Amino acid sequence: MVISENSGFNTRAIHAGQAFEPRTGAVVPPLHFSSTYAQDGIGGLREGYEYGRSANPTRDALQEQLAALEGGSHAFSFSSGLAAEDALIKALMRPGDHIVLGNDAYGGTYRLINGVLGDWGIGNTAVDMADLDTVRAAVAAGGTNGGSTRFVWVETPSNPMMKVTDIAALAEVAHDAGALLVVDNTFASPYLQTPLALGADIIIHSTTKYIGGHSDVVGGAVVVNDAELATKVGFVQFAVGAISGPMDAFLTTRGLKTLGVRMDRHSDNAMAVAQWLEGRSEVEAVHYPGLPSHPSHELAKKQMKKFGGMISVQFKGGAAAARKVAESTSVFTLAESLGGIESLMNYPSEMTHASVKGTELAVPENLIRLSCGIEDVADLIADLEHAFAAIGSAS
Ligand SMILES: *Cc1c(COP(=O)(O)O)cnc(C)c1O
Repeated sequence: MVISENSGFNTRAIHAGQAFEPRTGAVVPPLHFSSTYAQDGIGGLREGYEYGRSANPTRDALQEQLAALEGGSHAFSFSSGLAAEDALIKALMRPGDHIVLGNDAYGGTYRLINGVLGDWGIGNTAVDMADLDTVRAAVAAGGTNGGSTRFVWVETPSNPMMKVTDIAALAEVAHDAGALLVVDNTFASPYLQTPLALGADIIIHSTTKYIGGHSDVVGGAVVVNDAELATKVGFVQFAVGAISGPMDAFLTTRGLKTLGVRMDRHSDNAMAVAQWLEGRSEVEAVHYPGLPSHPSHELAKKQMKKFGGMISVQFKGGAAAARKVAESTSVFTLAESLGGIESLMNYPSEMTHASVKGTELAVPENLIRLSCGIEDVADLIADLEHAFAAIGSAS
């Protein structure tokens, strides 16, 4: 069987990097734990393997699978999404360079860029990425230290406000200014959206989320479609060493094989839950790109295959109502993270986004974020119905 870039998504997900093991015929490639490799004479490497930090067959298999699904030439797997982001910035930016990022960026991304790398001379400006004129102005202005903008960094849909940005238009804004467009594709996953095909230069993933998909492994990735960028990112992956370990890479690969079927169910469940939420009197606003009421619904339809499993909802009863619902479900588990097969609920202002409280990136206190899992949707809605009843009795 010939697997090519023209094979369907699920075929690539299952077969890319996953050829059977030639000696035994094992259909699932063996998990390689070895940290070092025997040499046939000094420098006589078999298949290029030398030491586990530089390369490992299980990690290579995952990297090949990731590149095939994002339509990139090279992928690099890291120990977490933030380790991937850190390596990317160190590979391609220098002190004085400037990043324009979304004003509702994932809190951990902002903490890394502002709180850690800021001290090393990386400047940043946070703006509304859906407002392209504002982005263009921030890119042109550069850093307060006079540094020029090297990266435009976007999450779409964004976390937790579910804003959708036009990737192709943003790529043009970035390229016009000589900057690169970085897309954090964690929320959509390559099944729903492939930013490299729309003109983005670099993909970032927290593979902890939909790609791993089972809430049992932390990881991250960088994907590019350019040999020169790949050489630089690969050098930092090797020289700094925040690689994913063999077991993590194996679990991520196993999850990634079923991404397509999971994303279909996540998306279908979330659509039904979002429609139900929109009909409830307790709700002030539902943020889900699949709803016609979403301000960028038409763009989302054009840019995404379906709309994913993430929903944010704001309550008329304010923070008290949001907190009450968050603490009253039983199928939805109150927990950080997202993208697993089990439904999760998060109160961002005190949980995932606590690090941006009091800044311009702060999230509304009457908001909860739902990660709709792949359980039976009737049970998800019944769980929410039960939790909503708690608001009534509380007020
Ligand atoms: C979780 C997350 C990250 C960070 O990834 P880790 O694997 O937790 O380090 C980055 N971006 C987005 C959108 C995320 O949800």
